[in-house]
Amino acid sequence: MNPEKDALVIESLIDIGANLSHESFAKDLNAALERAHLAQVHRIVITGACEASSIEAANIARRAPKRLFSTAGVHPHHANEWHARSDQAIERLIEGDEVVAIGETGLDFNRDFSPRAKQEYAFEAQLELAQSLGLPVFLHARDAFDRFIAILGQWRHRLSKAVIHCFTGNARELDACLDLDLHVGITGWICDERRGLHLREIIDRIPEDRLMIETDAPYLLPRDLDPAPDSRRNEPMHLPHILHRVAKSIQRPAAEVARATTGNAQDFFSLPELDPSENLHPIRLDPIHPESSTPSPSQSAARAPGDTRPHSGAPDR
Ligand SMILES: [Zn+2]
Repeated sequence: MNPEKDALVIESLIDIGANLSHESFAKDLNAALERAHLAQVHRIVITGACEASSIEAANIARRAPKRLFSTAGVHPHHANEWHARSDQAIERLIEGDEVVAIGETGLDFNRDFSPRAKQEYAFEAQLELAQSLGLPVFLHARDAFDRFIAILGQWRHRLSKAVIHCFTGNARELDACLDLDLHVGITGWICDERRGLHLREIIDRIPEDRLMIETDAPYLLPRDLDPAPDSRRNEPMHLPHILHRVAKSIQRPAAEVARATTGNAQDFFSLPELDPSENLHPIRLDPIHPESSTPSPSQSAARAPGDTRPHSGAPDR
């Protein structure tokens, strides 16, 4: 990987998964957004991982219309928190234009932070919600693939669009996702020489119109950044690095992959057209409106930024 090449100006990029409501961004989010801008990351979908972080994600997105968006949902780690009125809480959030998908939701049997039965319950409840609202779903699966795909298979025909974010699985699992007409999100996992090499071999199976890219910031800092940054916190500004790794793996020019992934993200989340002139200025957060009171930093976001565990939303406990 050539760091200078990474820095080359490329097409406008969209980071489809960044946990910007994480407490590690509380003090310098504007600076991080400015760095994202310099890296051509012009739009970002902020991940909601529990009720509180979904509210916070929407509050942040609302402060930069047409540039920041968010998802609303409950990560499997937080399935325990799913309650009788969770769907109503999410539905209220959906009323805002900035919330563009349900999730993240799915199954995570890697650490079993929530009992598996609760995870499946919350997962199906959110699929039902996505169906009734006609919204795309932002999906998470870790060490639970067969159960995940079995449940999703029963729902898929009732859903509009669905993306498996931070895909880290094998060829069989990738094919199963593609058979269900899923989009596939690739993170800096593919930059990991210990765990991501297999991805480089199989991602050319993903049709061009289903591929999207994401940082999962502040998690999953690409391991092959050169020089390695001082901070272990991942940021949307590292998205071009992931793009170049993906492009190299599928032996395509980075600009082409950028155009495709940006177009896919725009279509998938039905993002409004962006006037090219709007790309000229960095994403800036409007001051907080009194009516959009910000909840306390989400508990879901307490994992250390340097933690390279994939895309889970909870601290060790
Ligand atoms: Zn995830």
